[in-house]
Amino acid sequence: IPEYAFIGRSNVGKSSLINMLTSRKSLAKTSGRPGKTQLINHFLINKEWYLVDLPGYGYARVSKSAKKTFQKFITQYFASREQLVTGFVLVDIRHKPQPIDLEFMQWLGENGIPFSIIFTKADKLKPKAIENHVEDYKKILLETWEEVPNYFITSSSKDIGKEDVLEYIDSLNANMELE
Ligand code: GDP
Repeated sequence: IPEYAFIGRSNVGKSSLINMLTSRKSLAKTSGRPGKTQLINHFLINKEWYLVDLPGYGYARVSKSAKKTFQKFITQYFASREQLVTGFVLVDIRHKPQPIDLEFMQWLGENGIPFSIIFTKADKLKPKAIENHVEDYKKILLETWEEVPNYFITSSSKDIGKEDVLEYIDSLNANMELE
């Protein structure tokens, strides 16, 4: 079963986005392996794909060793990612491109892991400001990438972008069935 991983800094709006994407879907939450800390949650959506909820990175107020533990979980997940089709890196649309997010995208690229960007909390900005912030991201990404990755503009509180993300996942699933 194909998997799609959602990841971002803590407080980026990941839980809200996952709630938006999974509302009114046939949903089964499947726990991780018994005995393991439940840092990574899998949700089976419509019996078709797994939404993988990865722990947030970039906690400002945790110890170095806690950060390392999170990093280990994240890298271990990606190292054993046989079913992963694509990752979604969440970034708050209000903020200028942040080094920690750019570094994480860079790391995904170096490890050959495809990803899209999901801009969150779009309701917090006017359309013009959204456009400017997306342009800032594009500019900085094009310094290291040949193309801008796929991106989505979402707001969980205003129910924006849900269908775009779900249709994209459905189209990737359909492509895989053809292969
Ligand atoms: P997580 O830590 O990444 O899982 O983030 P949460 O989903 O818990 O959201 C963090 C905070 O941002 C909460 O106070 C949410 O209410 C708020 N938030 C999340 N998504 C949105 C959104 O689309 N619009 C607005 N205005 N606030 C949001």
